[in-house]
Amino acid sequence: MPEADGADEALNRVNTHSKPSDLRITDMRVAEIVGAPFTSVLLKIYTNQGIVGLGEVRDGASATYALMLKSRLLGENPCNIDRLFRRIKQFGGHGRQGGGVSAIEIALWDLAGKAYGVPVYQMLGGRFREKVRVYCDTDAAVPSGTETGKRLKQRMEFGFTFLKMDLGLMQIADVPGAVVFPAGSLEGYRDPPNRGPLKTIEERRVRNAAYDLHNVQHPFTGLHFSDKGLDLLEQYIAEVREVIGMDVPLAIDHIGHISMQNGIRLARRIEKYVPAWLEDVIPWQYTEQYRQLQDATTVPICTGEDIYLKEGFEPLLKSGGVSVIHPDLLTSGGILETKKIGDMAQDRGVAMAIHMAESPIAAMAAAHVATATENFMALEYHSADVDWWDDIVTGLPKPLVQNGFITVPDKPGLGIDDVVDEVISQHLQPGVAAIWQPTDHWDDEYSWDRTWS
Ligand SMILES: [Mg+2]
Repeated sequence: MPEADGADEALNRVNTHSKPSDLRITDMRVAEIVGAPFTSVLLKIYTNQGIVGLGEVRDGASATYALMLKSRLLGENPCNIDRLFRRIKQFGGHGRQGGGVSAIEIALWDLAGKAYGVPVYQMLGGRFREKVRVYCDTDAAVPSGTETGKRLKQRMEFGFTFLKMDLGLMQIADVPGAVVFPAGSLEGYRDPPNRGPLKTIEERRVRNAAYDLHNVQHPFTGLHFSDKGLDLLEQYIAEVREVIGMDVPLAIDHIGHISMQNGIRLARRIEKYVPAWLEDVIPWQYTEQYRQLQDATTVPICTGEDIYLKEGFEPLLKSGGVSVIHPDLLTSGGILETKKIGDMAQDRGVAMAIHMAESPIAAMAAAHVATATENFMALEYHSADVDWWDDIVTGLPKPLVQNGFITVPDKPGLGIDDVVDEVISQHLQPGVAAIWQPTDHWDDEYSWDRTWS
């Protein structure tokens, strides 16, 4: 249906939308891309009526997380979103492990919307806002607050009304006396584990060592900011504010693998620059430490991009350890779960920002939830410098982000007509030869799974 237009489209709308009760899932395929801005996996769920649902597996995650669930969905009516979600949700986890379940859930919403001819936001209860505020994330390429301020100022000139930048360990790690650290512990942070095929045992050893280092949680690294380090970080944000002014919200991310106590020291130093929030200071699982952190500073404390399901957010919200939650739809469990998470946060007086670092498919899924959830604050956009990002799909306004906002169209499902194969074929992940390849070998995947007896 998405390829058709004019009279054909009208005919297709009759054919497909008139029989949603007979709609059945027939196939699931993927396209693994890189650079939009990171790696992600575009997902298609095919049906017996020609309509295709679009989803996306989270940045950095494996397509396997979605494909391993195909056998549990074939032959089902995709409009039974919640029932299918509850069937597969035991196969998701926190962080990237939530990527498969979430991608599928989003594709099911897209299919249901297309089958009934209704936008996703409308199925969630309708609009709280006409357009969705986007915050522009800007990685710190150079160790200069003034230079970062100039980049952020350019974002503002493009119309962005909400900003985010990095402020933390890696900006001062090379300055003698700025960081207290056990000898040898800092080097590995400069090189995240590589993706792609490995040829030798030595290459595998290096990747596994980097993986292990990056999995040492903050309380156990032994890293501290010195007062000199805190002086430098304070100077950095002061320089940024000097350039961009005090009027625009500025969120702070990537503090580094430092302890809760160091997070408190940094937070107190930068209170007068009024950050919109301080993000992921420590792993989200440490609920009591989050409460101590938030109690010790007036800076709003934020976390959530790695939390799977509303149950994962509940202890943090009950503890009072966060002032802003930051779910990623591609980890949280998808569209309906994130709507529920936002509503649960609102009951506690907590705002919801949304994390997003993938293609326009993920952006639209998030924008529909943002449109339909009252306590929404701002949606992440990480692709301001990716010139082919808008060309990944058809059927949306171009560019999708205009003057710092996304306007969600009144079109069925996510509102996307199709994915442009010519564009994504030019940006395949290392080791990937083609897109939308057959996945028949997943059709009979079987395991007797139940998390209780
Ligand atoms: Mg983050």
